[in-house]
Amino acid sequence: MADPKGFLTTARQEAPRRPVDERVRDWDEVYVPGGLLPIVSAQADRCMDCGIPFCHEACPLGNLIPEWNELVARGDWRAASERLHATNNFPEFTGRLCPAPCEAGCVLAINQPAVTIKNVEVAIADRSWDEGFVSAQPPERHTGRTVAVVGSGPAGLAAAQQLARAGHTVAVYERDDRAGGLLRYGIPAFKMEKRQLERRLGQLTDEGVRFRTSVEVGRDITAHRLRARYDAVIVATGSTAWRELDVAGRELGGIHQAMEYLPLANRVCEGDLTVSPLSAAGKHVVIVGGGDTGADCLGTAVREQAASVTQLDIYTQPGDVRDEEAEPWPTYPKLYRLSAAHEEAGELKTAPEADADARLFAASTLRFTGDAGGHVRALHLVGVDAGRRPRAGTERTLPADLVLLALGFHGPERHVGSLVDQLGLEVGERGGIARDAGFATEVPGVFVAGDAGRGQSLVVWAIAEGRAAAAAVDRWLMGTTRLPAPVGAHDRPMGV
Ligand SMILES: Cc1cc2nc3c(=O)[nH]c(=O)nc-3n(C[C@H](O)[C@H](O)[C@H](O)COP(=O)(O)OP(=O)(O)OC[C@H]3O[C@@H](n4cnc5c(N)ncnc54)[C@H](O)[C@@H]3O)c2cc1C
Ligand code: SF4
Repeated sequence: MADPKGFLTTARQEAPRRPVDERVRDWDEVYVPGGLLPIVSAQADRCMDCGIPFCHEACPLGNLIPEWNELVARGDWRAASERLHATNNFPEFTGRLCPAPCEAGCVLAINQPAVTIKNVEVAIADRSWDEGFVSAQPPERHTGRTVAVVGSGPAGLAAAQQLARAGHTVAVYERDDRAGGLLRYGIPAFKMEKRQLERRLGQLTDEGVRFRTSVEVGRDITAHRLRARYDAVIVATGSTAWRELDVAGRELGGIHQAMEYLPLANRVCEGDLTVSPLSAAGKHVVIVGGGDTGADCLGTAVREQAASVTQLDIYTQPGDVRDEEAEPWPTYPKLYRLSAAHEEAGELKTAPEADADARLFAASTLRFTGDAGGHVRALHLVGVDAGRRPRAGTERTLPADLVLLALGFHGPERHVGSLVDQLGLEVGERGGIARDAGFATEVPGVFVAGDAGRGQSLVVWAIAEGRAAAAAVDRWLMGTTRLPAPVGAHDRPMGV
């Protein structure tokens, strides 16, 4: 650490966000451009360079956090970039999107605000691009071995980049028209602008990775043909089978899954559509599901100028501070967190009993009712206790012209003819494709990485698993590997 007393003399300061009334009128990232750089070195200097850095342990990628904190504090951005990229292929993604388990595990967080690790990460990543520290790293020699990666989300991209750098010929198959997985169609641009993705895709292409978009494995090419054509296959198809809400009125028009709604808004940002066919403009919107996907729907509906928006959460409202008994440091605690989208909800009307940030906790949907034309007009709910039992006298009705279901996902698709079905891949108890500690499925030469195996998770876990699966594939093909793999990427529990 450049200043051993930094944590005593400098208060935690996060990247400043643009004013709400400005940012809800565009799709750009919510942060003030250039707002982080003037403060980030002093923030990095709050790091105590702990003998046992719990931040490093808490990070699924094993990021070398104290090392790059010190380098940023000293102004050595090139070395910081090298250390950051040593463990993370795409730090500009995690620096924007990660819920930062490293900060929950930061030793400073025991009795004062944690180091702003995520902000330091994104500052290094952005500066790396601005200063030209990031360049293509094509292999010096080719192995002559071939690998197909199915799915171009963060897991598939990380695996493809590692394997291409190891000298293998890598093709990424993606059923969407553009690569990126949920980073492209799912996560809104106000959380991460797509130019971040484009730059990395350009780097991968320059390193030799070939992208075959608009090709669905199982439909446009059989899984067996793919397996026969390549020496190894990595399945990184994500966890895309969504959960349903089985209540009366579900069949009414105007009730959609979050992942039917969000990609259309992404397409507006890409310039494919002028207006989303499911636009929330002028509508009373109710989002069923209190998680981050619901918050993404909320931020999108605000930007589309909904008449009102309310997000329902079946769980009771979490507290503002860590419950030391139930979730002691350094675990990732359930807290009442105010995302940028929730901050923006104050721009719109919400249900009378909802928070100013549009959230209604401990609320369970009973049924939907609609108009004569078969379109939803109201959502009927009941308050529930911590055991999800209805509380007498708490039934109420919310106006609803657009209902968005953000209830999570079961695992990868397994319908007849799907990739999982064609290869006869076993599905584990949690819904993910079964694999051993080396990311191998029961089918020789077929490996799995990311949400497809892990179940619905996080970008940081997808990258960690992509790296680890790449190392496993390289070892399987060559008998040995020099590719680094995050320790324990397979074994650690789901979520953060
Ligand atoms: C709306 C939303 C917001 C999120 N926000 C965050 C966030 O802020 N931070 C965070 O850390 N995590 C977030 N997540 C979770 C995160 O996006 C995922 O954990 C991560 O993207 C998983 O990566 P993946 O590569 O395993 O799969 P995905 O990103 O899902 O990519 C899988 C890809 O495989 C393709 N595919 C599927 N089947 C086939 C086939 N048969 N042939 C060809 N291609 C196929 C799909 O089209 C898709 O592009 C969010 C998730 C959602 C749904
Ligand atoms: S735990 Fe916190 S203070 Fe300690 S090394 Fe990591 S970032 Fe620095």
